Amino acid sequence: MLRRHSSPAPMTLRFRLTFWYTLLLAVVLLIFALGFHAVVARALYNEVDEMLQSQAQQTVAFFEATIDPTRGRLPILTVVFASQVFAQATTVDGAVIDRSPSLGQQTLLLPDEMRQHNLQGEAGFYNWQSDGATLRIFSTPVHSPQGAVVATVQVARSLDTIDAMLKVARLALLVGGGIAVALAALGGALISGAALRPLNQIADTASRIVRAEDLDQRIDGAYPDDEVGQLADTFNEMMGRLQNLFNTQQRLVADVSHELRTPLATIQGNVDLLRRGASSDPAMLGESLEAIVQEVARMSRLVRDLLLLAEADAGVRLTLKPVELDTLLLEVYREALLIAHGRVKVRLGHEDQAQVLGDADRLKQLLLNLVSNAIAYTPTDGVVTIGLHRRPDGWVRVSVADTGVGIAPEDQARIFDRFWRVDRARTRMAGGSGLGLSIARSIAEAHGGSLSVDSELGKGSTFELLLPL
Ligand code: ADP
Repeated sequence: MLRRHSSPAPMTLRFRLTFWYTLLLAVVLLIFALGFHAVVARALYNEVDEMLQSQAQQTVAFFEATIDPTRGRLPILTVVFASQVFAQATTVDGAVIDRSPSLGQQTLLLPDEMRQHNLQGEAGFYNWQSDGATLRIFSTPVHSPQGAVVATVQVARSLDTIDAMLKVARLALLVGGGIAVALAALGGALISGAALRPLNQIADTASRIVRAEDLDQRIDGAYPDDEVGQLADTFNEMMGRLQNLFNTQQRLVADVSHELRTPLATIQGNVDLLRRGASSDPAMLGESLEAIVQEVARMSRLVRDLLLLAEADAGVRLTLKPVELDTLLLEVYREALLIAHGRVKVRLGHEDQAQVLGDADRLKQLLLNLVSNAIAYTPTDGVVTIGLHRRPDGWVRVSVADTGVGIAPEDQARIFDRFWRVDRARTRMAGGSGLGLSIARSIAEAHGGSLSVDSELGKGSTFELLLPL
């Protein structure tokens, strides 16, 4: 993985993009050039053919107007086009009657096949290579007034000028196309390079994170709001989440070991005391054993809470059944009276009837947690009030209010975090692990509800559980 990122791959995306784009352009240009060439060549050759045909017609008409075509002369017009047009008239036997001055002593070839064709009264075209030049020839019959074919006329033009022009055109297309393709390749490489640069940066950052195992790294730089920008954003978001998870994990391990260290140290100290002879003193023996029992109980609570939390993390598994919330609240109230032990007053406030779909055990655990917290953080003679309101919007609100120490605004969001305790020393004395509210909130959320707090320092707190009816 790592090597893939650090050494350039043999076929980079940039290369592939440029290559295919250039190839496509080259093919398109080639098709265009071939088509263009064919159309132009055809037009030029057609024009030659038309000219030959019209000149031949005029010549034939001239001959047919004479009394004896086999003794006629070529008309003056062939002399006018002297240098470009070659013309000759032959008898049906092939003897030359007359030829244009441009031909000199040369005779235009008249293939036998064409002569037969002419004798049958048909005209036709053919090409003739002579002295390295290509001649286009039109051969047509001359009729006597009686209608018999008595002679033939050939009119010819050299195709060299057209061939030379087409050659220049081909060369221009080739050179122009070549330059266009080269420019496109260069431009394509530059553009795709620029477009892919952010991707390279993202890959670099990712490999830096892997190498340095540093989750703090982010992709920075302003990316446009396009696919690449979205990728960078998503990547950063993902890194944030990963980092969060990783930190939580680390903090959990640190917290758990910290929480276990205190009771273990106490147990260890007491065991040492007993070893050193305290066991022979009944008063000290009792004290040490009591301390050990308390610490073991605290550790058991912690382990139980941790297990609950692990379960909650894996997604709380609920056995959903209709739960009469008012009955459940009554049970919680009775247990609260026992916990409060008369130190604080526990009251049942407004209570509607409400049924929700939920897990009765978990809901009771949640409420007991809120109530025991309320009792624990309320001074003697304070009041804890439990209430149940059925709201018209389809929600049930369960509230646990106390007149206790309250929670400072900056702590209110954090009390739901794992192991978070406002006053560490004090609450540990109270036996809290700092996991209770965290578990309570996951139970509430697993029921599709929510758990929140409203509190004023020194005046008291109200915890509010909302559940869908
Ligand atoms: P603990 O087991 O320590 O009570 P919790 O998660 O239940 O852990 O509570 C976290 C912290 O929130 C407590 O340590 C305490 O500081 C604060 N807290 C919870 N309930 C109350 C309350 N009713 N009044 C004041 N503070 C509270």
